[in-house]
Amino acid sequence: MTDSVARVRAVRDEIRAHDHAYYLLDAPTVDDATYDALMRELRALEEEHPELQSDDSPTRRLGGAASARFGEVRHLQPMLSLANARDGAELQAWDERVRRLLVAAGSDERPRYVTEPKIDGLAISLVYRDGVLERGATRGNGEVGEDVTANLRTVRVLPLAVRDPAPPPLLEVRGEVYLPRAAFARLNEERAAEGKPVYMNPRNTAAGSLRQLDPAVTARRPLALWCYAVGAVDGIEFTSHHDALGWLGERGFPVNPLIRTHDSIDDVRAECARIGELRDDLPYEIDGVVVKVDAIAMQRALGAIGRDPRWAVAFKFPATTRTTRLLDIGVNVGRTGALNPYAVLEPVEVGGVTVRLATLHNEEDIHRKDVRIGDTVIIQRAGDVIPQVVGPVLELRTGEERVFAMPADCPACGTAIVKPEGEVQHRCPNPRCPSRGAELLKHFVSRGALDIEGVGEKLVVRLYELGLVATPADLYRLTAEQLLALDGFQERSAANVIASIAASCARPFGSVLFGLGIPHVGSVTAVAIARHFGSMAALQQAAAEEIAAVDGVGSVIAETVVAWFAADEHRQLVADLAAAGVRLELSDEERPPDGGALSGLALVVTGTLSVPRPQIERRITEAGGRIASSVSAKTDYVVAGEAAGSKLAKAQELGVAVLSEADLEALLAG
Ligand code: NAD
Repeated sequence: MTDSVARVRAVRDEIRAHDHAYYLLDAPTVDDATYDALMRELRALEEEHPELQSDDSPTRRLGGAASARFGEVRHLQPMLSLANARDGAELQAWDERVRRLLVAAGSDERPRYVTEPKIDGLAISLVYRDGVLERGATRGNGEVGEDVTANLRTVRVLPLAVRDPAPPPLLEVRGEVYLPRAAFARLNEERAAEGKPVYMNPRNTAAGSLRQLDPAVTARRPLALWCYAVGAVDGIEFTSHHDALGWLGERGFPVNPLIRTHDSIDDVRAECARIGELRDDLPYEIDGVVVKVDAIAMQRALGAIGRDPRWAVAFKFPATTRTTRLLDIGVNVGRTGALNPYAVLEPVEVGGVTVRLATLHNEEDIHRKDVRIGDTVIIQRAGDVIPQVVGPVLELRTGEERVFAMPADCPACGTAIVKPEGEVQHRCPNPRCPSRGAELLKHFVSRGALDIEGVGEKLVVRLYELGLVATPADLYRLTAEQLLALDGFQERSAANVIASIAASCARPFGSVLFGLGIPHVGSVTAVAIARHFGSMAALQQAAAEEIAAVDGVGSVIAETVVAWFAADEHRQLVADLAAAGVRLELSDEERPPDGGALSGLALVVTGTLSVPRPQIERRITEAGGRIASSVSAKTDYVVAGEAAGSKLAKAQELGVAVLSEADLEALLAG
């Protein structure tokens, strides 16, 4: 047996095993990117060795199969899969092929394209006879699916009848059943709390929910639906796919509002980028954009090859969920003394970046998720968010994995670790813990805090380790001579560092307050407190109740602030900073303009607007408004652009006033 024959066999077997776990058990053991890579390898091998092609290869048939638990349904028309495009170049190549094939078929018109978000759920077919839902089925192997009518009836947005006085005698509607993001997160939290394995993605969870034997279980999962095609139909003809979708929408079928038409592939590419930017803000998960040829006659002329229609392609976004090995769990001591466990991972690419470390929050969280050292774990990274460990893949446990325990002594100073009553964080109680000191220095000089140019993390840690700087105030006592004694410093670079440290004295009071590293006081809270009290002296004398009255600050934060100022070393630090000339009261620029149109109001901006978001946010702050990152009962207005997602929903839920961009302009104009 040659190497390629053996490899083709091995890859096919592996893909079949993954298909079984994914389609029948709804519990994949590898992530989609790994699966897709195996599929690509198999396709390449079969292209290179045509003699190895066979009709039962996973490249030719859909991996899904109908489970014997449900009645079988033969589809009126096959339900196909979609070929993938991973980037703009592959999309371009698809467009060229479509145009070439159309010319060969005698059409001289350029195709118009429809773009639709690719919903991460599972495909279903709904058959309506004389306007009444007769049967709903899963895709299965594309020819034969499972009868899940009873379960589909529990999906609230699914029409049980076509809203039409004269419905076509036969209508098959295709769509994607999915589980909204929030419901998925809630379900996983509940499962983790009950010690059950977490689900890898909403798609398999939606599939698992729909394929329950007891419809009452399905009914408890808030499944939703987007319809994206008309299948078999009698009594009406459509000339374009987009018209068919419009027709469905008018008859009560949920059709996604982000669907658009385009006259060129360049527009399609731009739309894929736009949808990619909206991705994290949508209340449901999407894993790409489906591009379809609009004219039904062109679709027919193009036909299908194997399991994929030639008239459609799925532009896939980089995966945000991957699996990898958890090599170890490390522990950092933060600037407040909190012990932060983190995952050391076998490097893996997630959402376009290589991830080596991920946060694990605290010991309780690790045990709640039952994550063990040596496990294969699911990693998730959305947008700019720090990568998270979702949970272990229990099926891949070998028994060699180790349960993690927090060290009894601080890894940095050896002091016995404490865990205050009612807190989930373990802490090193030593205020002089070296790790704590270095962390505070790193935070103090960082962006958002004092932002001291030329003084980065490495330099402060070096200065700290050499004993030249122990607290942030010591930075201001540093001399050029001391720096010149260090490797790599010249007269000029030493003078520059001293000058930029001196310049940082004039940073806004809000930034200085943030730089102190008071637990729970983030940059937004620090600015709010600074604006309210106006000076460090006033804040130091304030009682907890007064601090809690500041917008965005609750009693927990207020108590922490009071406790922080009560410690001798912190009072000393503030006095030293004052002596060094650091600004400890509001500058004129920091003071919100009196009587600004939005003075004293809290606003949240969400969705896509006609100008970049920071620009709008700046105008709001200039008018005295405050930008909040999440919607709460304290929010005065939510400014919602196009495709606003969960924040808009939250505003509506809480009854917070929603402004369009035009409404905001009107308010600003006063
Ligand atoms: P696909 O998911 O790549 O594309 C086809 C599907 O997209 C359709 O069946 C439909 O369900 C869905 N879809 C969503 N929005 C749509 C829209 N607007 N219009 C049309 N279709 C839309 O293909 P597939 O055959 O369903 O599944 C293959 C994919 O499943 C692979 O790429 C892989 O990522 C994943 N998979 C993973 C494993 C694993 O073990 N991790 C195993 C098998 C398959």
